[in-house]
Amino acid sequence: MLDEPLTNYFKLTEKQVGILDRFGLKTVRDLLWHFPSRYEGFAGRKAITDLVPNERASIHARVVKTEAKKTFRKRIKIASAIVADGTGTMRITWFNQPYMAQILKPEIDYTFTGTVKAGKDGLAMQNPIFESGDVASKDSGTLVPIYPETRGLTSRWLRFALKKIFTKISPEDLKELIPEEVLKKYNLPALRKSLEEIHFPRDKKWAEAARKRFSFEEIFVIQLLRQSWRKEREEHKAFKIQVPKNELEDFIKKLPFPLTQAQAKAVANIFENLSEEKPMSRLLEGDVGSGKTIVALLSSLAAVKNGYQVAYMAPTEVLARQLFGEFMKYFGPLGIKMGLATSSEFLKYPSKAFAGRPTHIARAPLLKWLASGEIQILIGTHSLIQEKVKFKNLALVIIDEQHRFGINQRLKLVKKGKNLPAGRQVPHLLSMTATPIPRTLALTIYGDLDLTLIDEMPAGRKKVMTEVISPEKRNHAYEHVRAEIKSGRQAYVLCPRIEDTDDLMRAVKKEYETLSQEIFPEFKVAALHGKMLPKEKEKVMKEFYAGNIDILVATSVIEVGVNVPNATVIMIEGAERFGLAQLHQLRGRVMRSSHQPYCFLFTESNSTKTKARLDALTEARSGFELAEYDLELRGAGELTGSKQWGISDVGMEALHNLKMVQAAREEAKKIIETNSLEKYPELNSRVLAQSGQVHFE
Ligand code: ADP
Ligand code: MG
Repeated sequence: MLDEPLTNYFKLTEKQVGILDRFGLKTVRDLLWHFPSRYEGFAGRKAITDLVPNERASIHARVVKTEAKKTFRKRIKIASAIVADGTGTMRITWFNQPYMAQILKPEIDYTFTGTVKAGKDGLAMQNPIFESGDVASKDSGTLVPIYPETRGLTSRWLRFALKKIFTKISPEDLKELIPEEVLKKYNLPALRKSLEEIHFPRDKKWAEAARKRFSFEEIFVIQLLRQSWRKEREEHKAFKIQVPKNELEDFIKKLPFPLTQAQAKAVANIFENLSEEKPMSRLLEGDVGSGKTIVALLSSLAAVKNGYQVAYMAPTEVLARQLFGEFMKYFGPLGIKMGLATSSEFLKYPSKAFAGRPTHIARAPLLKWLASGEIQILIGTHSLIQEKVKFKNLALVIIDEQHRFGINQRLKLVKKGKNLPAGRQVPHLLSMTATPIPRTLALTIYGDLDLTLIDEMPAGRKKVMTEVISPEKRNHAYEHVRAEIKSGRQAYVLCPRIEDTDDLMRAVKKEYETLSQEIFPEFKVAALHGKMLPKEKEKVMKEFYAGNIDILVATSVIEVGVNVPNATVIMIEGAERFGLAQLHQLRGRVMRSSHQPYCFLFTESNSTKTKARLDALTEARSGFELAEYDLELRGAGELTGSKQWGISDVGMEALHNLKMVQAAREEAKKIIETNSLEKYPELNSRVLAQSGQVHFE
């Protein structure tokens, strides 16, 4: 029954089917697994005459009449109803839900729950929840599930549809997938019960228990898949890499700086793994500029000194070429032979013809030299994953900016040689990323990897002076910017949106006008945002890069790929609307020179919570710290790029709970390590379905 289309159970118009489709609701299963985003409770019931403004209350009243209209100025659709309960009458309004006027029937009694407001013509309620009949008196603890709504798909319809489905569904349709002992151990409700309680909770506790079960389940399934990848990898042996102590010490001594403690710790972690036969699977997380490349260099040196090869994969050609340059600088003097492979060129270093320089070669000889082991380190873009690229004894794979690659690509590179005879060695894996995510999220999505954090910046780095600017100090900040620009620097102004709307949020277009005409008429100001044509954007970026534009007013599009060392000031409007980790990455834009950088955060909000959040930026040591803080304060939905992790909202709730994530990981490990996944057919097929979304070839 679960996989049957909803149309088998409901009479739906084509339009309704279209709306459901847009929400991904095609089958009975989709409907059952479409969870409420929150619950509202009916409050204590009151008579209309006893209501006071600003309290939350329920009334039981009869609809006298309904109407739907549009506000003249703002064109907001309003539905309203006049209701009466014998003690008085009041107006109820719904904004942007004109259909409410049709749903409510005159002469019928409903229970309405909402916050009471003093309106123009007496007391009023806006967007209340309601049920027909007298809900509040028979059970004042009733929670009403509220689903993420869209036009035409209301929580009311979903509740109706779900009620109907629950009357039809049989126990065989809902097979439990979490092993019983795991449910018991963590006190989680069984599947059927959880589904009922998440949609129609008896009370708050049950609603929470049900959500907890589903968030555990989701993390558990992800962990099972990750742990199975890990197991599969560990069935192969890796090359044992002896730590070449003297050579490493020599190399470190020659560096123009001492390693930070965090770098030294990371290197120690890695060497411990490399010297074992078990393949390393390690993720190195550190902010941009924390010095991950040195760690990669030292690891590569160890592999090469043991006579093995290294592959280093970067997400872009520019980065690959830059890394190749860095490797030549450090390893050239040691006589190490290296290659670069991108889709547009192949380089080999050293070249026979020109000492100290790389030379262009064709693909065929490069492949030949790789296969013979002549090239010891190959740096490149994803062209490294191609089937034809064969190594003689690849012992270490390094993936830089791994968040830019799909999981598939990572799996493919470390699987180089998958079809080789059993017992054939696989490379160690060192993956690196600068995406600041909380530990619980890292443990989940990178569940097959061990984590090392570089949570410390090299000494002497200029910290971005970050200040939260109150409205009355705005001009002060502008004067500071003026002085910076006069001394030759450039500035960014970031706005949360492009176009002006009614509210207070600053928008690029308007801000551009104000700044260019009123505040900084003497400077060249330009706007940059996502609605501009690519050509226009490119032109503005070029001009800004060349220094012909002093102030760039932009949306957060500058987050990606902008590197203008001369820009030393960033002003962020509506700062409270951004995640902390995102703000941290944004201010990283002005950290690229030897000049003192500044970040001014403007906020119209004067809540103490906002202030505390933004203040955290002035002290934080790393983006990871900020990501944790954001998770705690604002919730999983606010994490940078949260959409891309492939975890549902309910699954994300687990991220608040380190114990739960660890438990899911431990239980998954136990099952995978004892090869017992097949003992749980439901679970097994779920994991297989999940892995089906990851394609290898
Ligand atoms: P990322 O972690 O973003 O890859 P990089 O490895 O590119 O950072 O390092 C950024 C800069 O910091 C480089 O110029 C590098 O030489 C320098 N650097 C790395 N480690 C240290 C250190 N311990 N002390 C001072 N500078 C360092
Ligand atoms: Mg880097």
